[in-house]
Amino acid sequence: MTVWSEDAARDLVLNAGERLALLTRGEGSYVWDGDDNRYLDFLGGIAVNALGHAHPVFVDAVSRQAATLVHVSNYFATRPQLELAARLKRLAGAGIDGRVYFSNSGAEANEAAFKLARLRGGAERPRILALENGFHGRTMGSLALTAKKTMRAPFEPMPAGVEHIPATIEALEAAMDDRVAALIVEPIQGEAGVVELPDGYLAAARSLTLAHGALLIVDEIQTGAGRTGSWFGFNHEGITPDAITLAKGIGGGFPIGALVTFGAASALFTPGSHGSTFGGNPLATAVANAVLAEIERSDLVGNAAARGVQLREAIAKIDSHLVGGVRGRGLLIGIALSAPVAGDLVAAAQRRGLIVNAANPETIRIAPALTIGDAEIEEFLTLFTAALADVQGDRTATERESTESMPAMSDQGDSK
Ligand SMILES: *Cc1c(COP(=O)(O)O)cnc(C)c1O
Repeated sequence: MTVWSEDAARDLVLNAGERLALLTRGEGSYVWDGDDNRYLDFLGGIAVNALGHAHPVFVDAVSRQAATLVHVSNYFATRPQLELAARLKRLAGAGIDGRVYFSNSGAEANEAAFKLARLRGGAERPRILALENGFHGRTMGSLALTAKKTMRAPFEPMPAGVEHIPATIEALEAAMDDRVAALIVEPIQGEAGVVELPDGYLAAARSLTLAHGALLIVDEIQTGAGRTGSWFGFNHEGITPDAITLAKGIGGGFPIGALVTFGAASALFTPGSHGSTFGGNPLATAVANAVLAEIERSDLVGNAAARGVQLREAIAKIDSHLVGGVRGRGLLIGIALSAPVAGDLVAAAQRRGLIVNAANPETIRIAPALTIGDAEIEEFLTLFTAALADVQGDRTATERESTESMPAMSDQGDSK
């Protein structure tokens, strides 16, 4: 019998680098590996496991719906699909005119948003604006919206028309004209390392897009479903977008995505203009309904807001030279490091039984379950502080050993 890491190295497409562990089960905020080591999971499947692992509401929804009706094709409607569409419209404030398209992932939701922008634009409006450092997915359309050149370069040519502009109101004012079909933005740039937009950006984006007849599309895939302490990131600025895209947290771990359109943008798709065989199937939509209902019932949006403040205040007080600052809102948090040691820190944390993520070499990202309380936060602080000390100790030792030679540099690649 081979060990799992050899199987992974031989059989998996080489897209995500070496896997960090073989995980076998989970419960609440904890997961266990094949050797029964327990980890406190403060990554939450990258802002996905909103209810943690194996939550009874999630387990019950999957089991019941699996035993009732799983898939029928979009020639038919199902109750869970209609219920979820109505729920998303209500939560997003999409109003009576709002409409929902279901996909199976975030990238697919953004593909739908890209096509929405083209339907708005036609030949007269070929331009689509997106932000520098933005991340919108890995399929061809969503990749074209994604800023990072190294992600796009091997796959060029990209679908045409996308321009990446700096995330400032001035840059948007300069770029906006009547040939822009849409602007797509993340309220907080998660993959970039939990980077917030400048204050007032979404409000300015709303008035500029309205003035020029362009769509404002907000990518809420990482920030939605209560993650930032309000239902959606755009709520913090009180605007009404033309469309939002959702995935990650809305399914609590079950693959599902959605495009929600508001107002006149809801009339752009017509029968035959887009589709997905699996999208909106009764199993995925029943689970998302149950997850969102539980977030509402237990006020996990309020918990995300309160626990986020508690965590950020505590992280800012950690006594370590390596912690340079803390960013984010609710339970989407970026810990800025004063040295490019995020990869070493992820490894040190894992050895101590804590899962966190290196969004880039100088940022640790955490996105725990929205259900966390004092116990999980206390344990996180203990383990993370210890991991910081491990890395600090290693660095001091390395520097001592190499006073005559060059100090060793850590070079951890991207998380995605
Ligand atoms: C994760 C993410 C995506 C891509 O979602 P997938 O489900 O991985 O395709 C798109 N946009 C944002 C903001 C994301 O965080």
